[in-house]
Amino acid sequence: MQKGQIRVNTENIFPIIKKFLYSEHDIFLRELISNATDATQKVKTLSSLGESKGDLGELRIDVILDAKEKTLTFSDRGVGMTKEEVDKYLNQVAFSGAEEFLTKYKDANIIGHFGLGFYSAFMVAEKVEVISQSHNLEAPTVYWSCDGSPEFELYEVEKKDRGTKIILHINEDSKDFLEPSKVKSVLNKFCKFLPIPIYFTDVAEEKKEDAEEKSINNTNPIWVKKPSDLTKEDYENFYRELYPFNETPLFWIHLNVDYPFNLTGILYFPKIKQSYEIQKDKIQLYSNQVFVTDEVKEIVPEFLMLLQGVIDSPDIPLNVSRSYLQGDPNVRKINAHITKKVADKLDELFRNERESFEDKWESLGLFVKYGMMTDDKFLEKANKFLVMENAVEKKFFTLDEYKTATEALQKNKEGKHVIIYTTNPVQQDAYIQAAVAKGYLVVKAETLVDAAFINHMEMKWDNVAFVRVDADIVDNLVDKQDNNESVLSKEDAETLKKLFEFPVGDLHLTVEVKGLVNNDAPVVATRPEFMRRMKDM
Ligand code: ADP
Ligand code: MG
Repeated sequence: MQKGQIRVNTENIFPIIKKFLYSEHDIFLRELISNATDATQKVKTLSSLGESKGDLGELRIDVILDAKEKTLTFSDRGVGMTKEEVDKYLNQVAFSGAEEFLTKYKDANIIGHFGLGFYSAFMVAEKVEVISQSHNLEAPTVYWSCDGSPEFELYEVEKKDRGTKIILHINEDSKDFLEPSKVKSVLNKFCKFLPIPIYFTDVAEEKKEDAEEKSINNTNPIWVKKPSDLTKEDYENFYRELYPFNETPLFWIHLNVDYPFNLTGILYFPKIKQSYEIQKDKIQLYSNQVFVTDEVKEIVPEFLMLLQGVIDSPDIPLNVSRSYLQGDPNVRKINAHITKKVADKLDELFRNERESFEDKWESLGLFVKYGMMTDDKFLEKANKFLVMENAVEKKFFTLDEYKTATEALQKNKEGKHVIIYTTNPVQQDAYIQAAVAKGYLVVKAETLVDAAFINHMEMKWDNVAFVRVDADIVDNLVDKQDNNESVLSKEDAETLKKLFEFPVGDLHLTVEVKGLVNNDAPVVATRPEFMRRMKDM
C-alpha cells in the first residue's frame, strides 16, 4: 500500500484558473475591488481595536486607467501586506486571508472567502504587479510581480504610504478594458453600492481645474439603514436609482434578518401587466454591498422573480458556480424566509388597507396566483387574501366570502361549492346575466394565468368545483330564486316562444321566454354547450 499527497502541477493549473475560474471576465474588477474593500474594512476594524496605530486618513479606492501604458491600477488605503503576508496570501492559490481574518475577528463586513479572487486578474492581464505597505509601518514596502507563469518575484522597495496598489498589464485579448466606458460600466454594475468610496480616473482625460471629484458609488444605500429612519420618498427614490425608467412601484418590503442568517434588502412590487412579460429589471443579489448577479433564477423562488429590488446577504457566497448556489442550504432558508415575508406583507395590506389592496389586484393577482400554484406554504397563507372579482360590479370576494355568499344556491350534486366564472365578461354577457338572474355569483377569471390557476385550485381546495358560466352545468345547480312570477300569462309566453323559435329553429338554439323577471332578458336564445364546442373544433 502506498499513501501520499496529491500534488498539483502549477504549470497546468494556472491556465485552468485563467480560463475557467469565472464565466464572465468582467468579474476580475469585482474581485479586485472587493479585496481593496476588505483591506479597508480590516484596517478600520484593527484601528478600532487599537491593533493598528497609524492615522487612518482618507479611506478610498482608486481605479486608474492608462490606455497608453495598457495598465489598469487598483489602489487602496487598507491594511496592506508584509512580505510574509504576500507570500502567504498571494503565492498560495486558494489560501484566503479573508477567511483567516473572519475566524479571528468575526468581522461581518468581509467579502472574500475562497482565496481565488485575486487570480482572476490573470484572466485579463499578462502581468500583475503588487506594491504593498502594511499598516504595521515598521515592515518594509514590498513589490511582487508575476507574468502568469507559476514564477513570481518578491522583494523590498522604497517606502510608500500604507495600502496596496495592484497594476494589471492588460493582455491583447482584453483590450476592451482599456476603454474608459467599459471600465466605468463594469464598475457601475458591481460596485454601485460598495461601502468605501471608489474613484475612477482616466489618465488620458484632461483634468479640469478645480473639477469636483465624485465617487462612482453610493456608499450608504437605504437597504442598510433602519426602516424607521426612512420615508416613502426614500424608498421611491431608491427604486428610481435602480430602475430609472420604471413607473412608481405599488409597495415594498424592507427585509432585515440577522438570525439564523444575515439578510437585508428591499423588495418592490412593480405594476405588472396582465401577461407573462419577461421582467428585464430583475432582483439584484448583493453580498456585503457587492453586486453578485441579477440572474436569480435558481436562487429566488420563481414567482418572486416578478418582484424587483435588492437582496443582500453575506451568507450567499460570492461563488463561481450557480449550480452550487442552488444546493446551498442558506440559499434555501433565505428563499423560505422571503416567501414568508412577502405573504405576511400581502396579508397585512389586505387586512389593513383592503380597498387599496383591491385597487392593486390587477398587478397583485398575477403574482399571488402564480405563487399559490408553485409554493404550498405561500398557498396556505394566500388562501386568506386571494380575491375574486365579481363579473358585474367592482366587488371582491375571498374564497370564504364567496362561499358564504353563495352557500344556499351554488352547491352541485356532490355537495361541492361551485365557483362560477367567466373568461370573457363581454362575450359571455348573456350567460352572466342569466346566471345573475338566478341569483348566482359570477367572478372574473380572464387573465392568462387563470386557466392554470383554476386547474390547480380544484386539486388544492377541498369541496370546491369551478364551472364556467356558459357551461350547461349551471342549469343543474339548485335553483331557489326562480319562483318569481312572469308578467306574461302562460299562453302569451307560449305564443312568444313559437314566434322566436320559428326563425332560429334550424340553428339548434333553445328559446326560453321569461317575461321580465329580475330585470332579466325577456327572451333568451342559447346554444347548448356541446354545440358550441363542436363549432370550435
Ligand atoms: P479572498 O479575498 O477570498 O480571501 P483573494 O484571492 O481575493 O481571496 O485574496 C487572497 C488574499 O490576499 C486576501 O484574503 C488578502 O489577505 C490578500 N489581499 C488581496 N488583495 C489585497 C489588498 N488589496 N490589500 C490587502 N490584502 C490583499
Ligand atoms: Mg477576494
